[in-house]
Amino acid sequence: MYRTLDSGVILPASRAERPVVIAIDGPAASGKSSTSKWVAERLGVHHADSGALYRAATASRLRAPGALGTSESWTEQSVLEAARAVSFVPGKTSFEVRINDAPADEELRGAGVTANVSLVARMPGVRAWVNERIRECARGSSIVVDGRDMGTAVFPDAALKIFLIADPWERARRRLVQRLERSPSEDEIAVETDDIVKRDAKDATQTQQASDAILIDTTYLTQAEQVDRIVALARAVGG
Ligand code: C5P
Repeated sequence: MYRTLDSGVILPASRAERPVVIAIDGPAASGKSSTSKWVAERLGVHHADSGALYRAATASRLRAPGALGTSESWTEQSVLEAARAVSFVPGKTSFEVRINDAPADEELRGAGVTANVSLVARMPGVRAWVNERIRECARGSSIVVDGRDMGTAVFPDAALKIFLIADPWERARRRLVQRLERSPSEDEIAVETDDIVKRDAKDATQTQQASDAILIDTTYLTQAEQVDRIVALARAVGG
């Protein structure tokens, strides 16, 4: 006996009322967040991007007094203090980050935040803070979550775990197309690839592929193909 939720996810009747968590992890610029958002839209559930919370804690710390010193002097306590200004509220599809009750999307993608976020993300107290926020989003309703460790540290029992990878050159190319809104040159892609490889190294400890995750290499897939594949897997989780 199966039942289809409004979201389209099919579950055995006994599990139909239980919220379903779909965890999508992977390295920088693997397309996790845009893919996750699109998958959530297709399933009619919310999406929460854990990276946005690490970025928000970093952005809020950068606003605080003394932020202009080196980030090595930032204490975990000072970052957690700054994170108190961060809220995570349900928007139309995704949970949206606010700092002091105002949207901060552009600031979150800024160079200062990107340069410091890996250091902040290595602080155990900050990881606990993010994980608790993400678990709160999943309380009582189905959700698509994305990050580096959603399928390991945060939702080890997720109904579906995906690990997205792509060749660094292709990740760099996609990121530049998005940023520049034109085809990048080979030299531009080479510089960006170097950046991505460096960030992979900085994030290596927190980027974890769950042993039961389904690995999808998106190097030769379009975003629509990735989304279709994940939606089909999501629909099958109760099967
Ligand atoms: O996904 P995004 O690039 O926005 O994440 C920003 C940073 O947050 C990553 O570079 C990583 O250091 C950290 N992060 C993490 N664990 C997660 C999500 C993000 O450590 N689950």
